Amino acid sequence: MSISGFNFPTPIRFGAGARREVAKHLLGRGFKRPLIVTDKALGALPVLAEFQSHLQGLDVAVYAGVFGNPTASQVMKGADAFKAHNADCVIGFGGGAALDVAKVVGVAATHEGDILNYVWDHPQVRPIVNELPYFVAMPTTSGTGSEVGRSSVISEDDTHLKRIVFSPKVLAKIVFADPELTLALPAHVTAATGMDALTHNIESYLSPAYHPLCDGIALEGTRIAARSLFKAVHEPSNIEARSDMMMSSMMGAIAFQKDLGAVHSCAHALGAVCDMHHGLANALMIDTVLAWNYEAVPQKFDELAHVCGVQGGGKAFVAWLQALKESIGIKGRLADHGVTKAQFPRMVEIATADICHQTNPRPCTSADFERLFQQAL
Ligand SMILES: [Zn+2]
Repeated sequence: MSISGFNFPTPIRFGAGARREVAKHLLGRGFKRPLIVTDKALGALPVLAEFQSHLQGLDVAVYAGVFGNPTASQVMKGADAFKAHNADCVIGFGGGAALDVAKVVGVAATHEGDILNYVWDHPQVRPIVNELPYFVAMPTTSGTGSEVGRSSVISEDDTHLKRIVFSPKVLAKIVFADPELTLALPAHVTAATGMDALTHNIESYLSPAYHPLCDGIALEGTRIAARSLFKAVHEPSNIEARSDMMMSSMMGAIAFQKDLGAVHSCAHALGAVCDMHHGLANALMIDTVLAWNYEAVPQKFDELAHVCGVQGGGKAFVAWLQALKESIGIKGRLADHGVTKAQFPRMVEIATADICHQTNPRPCTSADFERLFQQAL
């Protein structure tokens, strides 16, 4: 048997009100001038102003320049804001996009050249050698789990191609996960991001990579999302359900150290070709792809059914997922969301080139992707 390595390195403060601990935490470590990195929409909402009211004693600047799929120029402008404020630390505040930008603003502020020089597959990739500013991550959605991740997805401004900066050095030094920050999320965002979190837990559990620690996390993350996603959508101020979804989101992102599967390859193609929301794309594909995966790992599906309280074993699990989607308002098929057959060739090309399906429990070829898209249309 080969030797394996396991890492769970991020300290996490979790619970309603955790945001009120941030100022004391930073001041106690000698930090005085944080730059908050957040997205445009969030910057205008009361939730940010309310958080700032808990930052007494700190000289705070806000960079609210993140929007859409974050681009390299958004990162570079964030680095300019960091330098202009003479900041000594970064607080990432937002959903996956804001946190991905916040993660690498410190890299761009302390290293030469454009952030795209630091993406992992750049032909002359530059190493991250200088010390990075202290980075605090605060999720305001429950989906990507980006706050506990070590990668940052940044698009090229001109081509819109997604590039990835991947390094343990960009991990948050600490996460303050406060489910009260998600109370105002609209139902359709809670539903779509929640399906992303659920998909991370399920796909990482189904990945064949050897990681029993993450298997345990993924199953428990699935159980927690299964019991609370419906409630979080239909009772938006239910703090227990909001807490569960924030926890499940982090567990999914921790578990996907094992990597994901073909649902995510399809979602990445739908995002690139049809500009579809990532969580919605996963939700529209997950039952089709999982029904096809079933025969490869039936015992694992039995286990998923068990933790979700589904009677009838692994085959019933896919039907349960379909019912769950309906119940949280995710309706229709790909065509109902504007996808056309003419887009298939490019979608199949992107899904096939995507790395996620390499850990799908069943090998997935271009022809398979074409069939899966057709079935989901
Ligand atoms: Zn995802």
